[in-house]
Amino acid sequence: MNDSLNPFKIAQQQLDGAADKLGLDSATHELLRWPMRELKVILPVKMDDGITKIFHAFRVAYNTSRGPAKGGIRWHPDETIDTVRALAAWMTWKTAVVDIPLGGGKGGIICNPKELSESEKERLARAYIRAIAKTLGVAQDVPAPDVYTTPQIMAWMMDEYETIVGEKHPGVITGKPLPLGGSPGRADATARGGVYILREAAKVHGINLHGETMAIQGFGNAGQFAATIGEELLGLKLIAASDSKGGVYNLKGIDAKKIVDYKLQNGSLKGFPDADEITNEELLELEVTVLIPAALENVITEENANNLRCKFSCELANGPTTPAADDILYNNGIIVLPDFLANAGGVTVSYFEQVQNTYNFFWTLDEVQRRLDEKMTLAFKGVYEMQQREKVDMRRAAYFVAVSRVAEACKLRGWV
Ligand code: NAD
Repeated sequence: MNDSLNPFKIAQQQLDGAADKLGLDSATHELLRWPMRELKVILPVKMDDGITKIFHAFRVAYNTSRGPAKGGIRWHPDETIDTVRALAAWMTWKTAVVDIPLGGGKGGIICNPKELSESEKERLARAYIRAIAKTLGVAQDVPAPDVYTTPQIMAWMMDEYETIVGEKHPGVITGKPLPLGGSPGRADATARGGVYILREAAKVHGINLHGETMAIQGFGNAGQFAATIGEELLGLKLIAASDSKGGVYNLKGIDAKKIVDYKLQNGSLKGFPDADEITNEELLELEVTVLIPAALENVITEENANNLRCKFSCELANGPTTPAADDILYNNGIIVLPDFLANAGGVTVSYFEQVQNTYNFFWTLDEVQRRLDEKMTLAFKGVYEMQQREKVDMRRAAYFVAVSRVAEACKLRGWV
């Protein structure tokens, strides 16, 4: 992978800019440039045909100065240790920017889940937990879902962990199904949190989003709920959506619920009626008020940044924009609501899930959503104030807020 698209190099480069501006001493800066712990494990898993396949997997705890490591597990054929490191770094800044008492972590398995049966997925999930169980725990490291992992996979993982330790520890993993201690409101929390951030951003820029257009790249958990919640809460009109197989487009508007139902029934957006086909690349360059990257990293680069014609890019995906593209978008007046702020709703409700698991007492959906709104709105205000004061883009402002909090925690602990 070329260095300019290596997610971990990008994460380090973003941190370096913040460290410089904040005047971090060299030990603190160096500490924050690296994961504090990383595990590489090999998982032998028996396939349905009786043949054992060997999978490579990772778990990274990036920084735990503010609390136990927290971060999802991604199953993807292109997963690398550097992707996991970058995602773990961004989790560290994410938990800090929304000010919850957790650190940053991430995990990944190199696999193609589309080629695995349900029973193979279960054996893979359990093998992963057996391999990393010693480093997990409510006070150590708490996983959650990410790309191509689901509440069902979280349930198998929790069950495997509890079997190993011989006790009930529902808080060891979040994003669980509701009957196993999941939180109301966790399923749509990432998108909902992003919509709250978008609402606040539109407010300070004096823009009424009602009837304005949105296009969404990536139509899984984050993208689907962004479509329905964006329409419901802000009156946004969806005009395009895409997934790994391509996208669809209709300037007159696409009913969000209809297209979500279609995707759930058919597994892809191909053939969605009353819409034209569009590629993932074309979708990014549509003239829309709100663009929502909700798939993977590095989709907005210096190659295409000048072609973007949105007003807001609300990043539900992690790392969709390279640093070179960030500068181009900023100079072109596009407001980027950066990933670790815009998609922090997921980890915020994961934190609420853990709190409820600890109390063994559950909140109502209304209460979860009210608390999420409070946290996201406060986080937006903190970053926006920083942006106004420092006259930088929102990503840099978010880094200043988050890195200074993590650096302070490291200092208070006497680590640096
Ligand atoms: P998901 O597995 O539910 O969905 C992923 C979607 O992306 C699928 O629709 C898939 O078809 C699409 N996709 C994959 N490759 C693509 C490509 N090359 N081009 C276009 N679309 C492609 O995953 P998710 O949970 O929705 O995660 C999406 C993004 O949001 C990721 O970057 C993830 O890290 C981030 N995120 C998710 C959460 C969460 O709580 N789920 C929280 C924070 C951030």
